Amino acid sequence: MYAPAYRIGLWRSKLEIRGRSPGNWPATLILYPDSVPELPEVETIARGLDTRVAGDTVEHVWIGSRTQPLKSAAGVIAATLEGKRIVRVHRAGKHIVFDLEGEARASQTASQTASQTKKGKRAVRGETRQAASLRRSDQHPSDAQTAQWVVHLGMTGRMVVCEPAAEIAKHTHLIAKLASGRELRFIDPRMFGKLSVHPGGFDPGGVEPLEVSEERFVALFRGRKTPIKSALLNQKLLRGVGNIYADESLFRAGIRPRRRAAAITREQLGRLHRAVREVLREAIELGGSSISDYMDADGEEGFFQLQHRVYGREGEPCLVCRTPIRRVVLAGRSSHYCPKCQK
Ligand SMILES: [Zn+2]
Repeated sequence: MYAPAYRIGLWRSKLEIRGRSPGNWPATLILYPDSVPELPEVETIARGLDTRVAGDTVEHVWIGSRTQPLKSAAGVIAATLEGKRIVRVHRAGKHIVFDLEGEARASQTASQTASQTKKGKRAVRGETRQAASLRRSDQHPSDAQTAQWVVHLGMTGRMVVCEPAAEIAKHTHLIAKLASGRELRFIDPRMFGKLSVHPGGFDPGGVEPLEVSEERFVALFRGRKTPIKSALLNQKLLRGVGNIYADESLFRAGIRPRRRAAAITREQLGRLHRAVREVLREAIELGGSSISDYMDADGEEGFFQLQHRVYGREGEPCLVCRTPIRRVVLAGRSSHYCPKCQK
């Protein structure tokens, strides 16, 4: 599944020119065509979207008839987005968050869109709430309405910024027409992606792994009887650490995925804290150079990543000690580790 379609060897000097110091690690970038966007990819996509659409205003929203990706009713999504200015696009966990500001508009379009969906009834109720909040805002006309639009890409979701003339890809579920004349489209063939709006602000839960202090990190895992790998993937503890980066972090920290969290020393947890941040930061740094194609073009899918050290390398030699990498299944997910480097 993770067999790379292309292996692209890069000159080490080329990576260094971009400000990376790859140390003794092989400077190989691999396009992982089937990979699910994890935190670093979502961060890069959110940054790319911020550059492209921040400051623009959503004029009109079209929503398709498939309700699977809609975690808020279609009418509510449309009414929340239309007329709003996109203040900023950022990442929270593995979610893309659009901060919106402006007057709410209980537009006709929204109710039309709602009636086209199977969730029409719910949407109309949402519309009423929207209208009610509009009336409230009439009483305080100086209060600008803020809301957040949250997109989770799931496994195959994509956000595309394009000209209106661009062909509408199959599996397009939402098109936001922007005041600049461009369109922001959400495409998702497998429909594990999620679209929702949060007038009161979005709470992604858990702690941000790139911001968490060492003390807080250690406290999250202390006394937990679950395997450390499962604890790393628990979104109520850390938000946005996925399977790949959990394996890679445990390798760098020298900890086996099946070790009980409670049995790990304070010092090792400190090492794991540094490893998680290091792995995610490196991937984000790398992502910036490759992801623009992913967003704009229709053909290019998948993510370029620095070669994983253990993930997806079962049976291949450890890059440190040449021992074959092992794979175990933990809570239904593959975990990869080096039996010699990790204790
Ligand atoms: Zn090893």
